[in-house]
Amino acid sequence: MRILIVEDEPRLAANLARSLREASGYAVDIAPDGEQGSELGAQNEYDLIVLDLMLPKLPGDQVLRQLRAAEVRTPVLILTARDDKETAVAMLNAGADDYVAKPFDLGEFMARAKALIRRGKGQATPLLRLADLEINTLERRVSRGGREIVLTPMEYRVLEYMAHRPRVVVSKSELLEHLYDFNWEKFSNVIEVYISGLRRKLDDGQDPKLIHTLRGHGYSLREQA
Ligand code: CA
Repeated sequence: MRILIVEDEPRLAANLARSLREASGYAVDIAPDGEQGSELGAQNEYDLIVLDLMLPKLPGDQVLRQLRAAEVRTPVLILTARDDKETAVAMLNAGADDYVAKPFDLGEFMARAKALIRRGKGQATPLLRLADLEINTLERRVSRGGREIVLTPMEYRVLEYMAHRPRVVVSKSELLEHLYDFNWEKFSNVIEVYISGLRRKLDDGQDPKLIHTLRGHGYSLREQA
């Protein structure tokens, strides 16, 4: 899988690229302006193009129009300002496939990016699986051993974030940064609450336990202790 990010804010571009590389092992190219984005997007076979709208040299809507005019069919995920629904709708009409509004959390970005990649590949399954745990990321439904488990929205987001990184130790601050856009420090005690809720709902009376705490390091979703 190869992804193109067209984004002029270096830190955001680097964060998105890192998440895509780490979570799924995707190869990622970054174009820092619209001209390069348009060139790279037309030259290479990407599985997804992530396109910011406010770009130097050539704005994002022009990049999209050039790519579609050049018959590039790659799914395009637009990054837009939160209060600009109208532009987002215009972009969808111009051939974009989805959008996320800034500031967004990385979990949402990743879910949308992956959904578009799957759709581009005609791959319908949005399922994450670990042992007998199954997470349907489109419907946001969770089951263990075929039994449906009802989670709060925040519990779900914690679980999905961890399930995208099975067996990896995820720190509390990493979880917080991905769950909250800003001021995440003030929520630092809530993670324990979500984790204990998840443990109760997923692991009570079940074998193997899936949620593990590594004291001082963080949490991990895995089959073995
Ligand atoms: Ca920008």
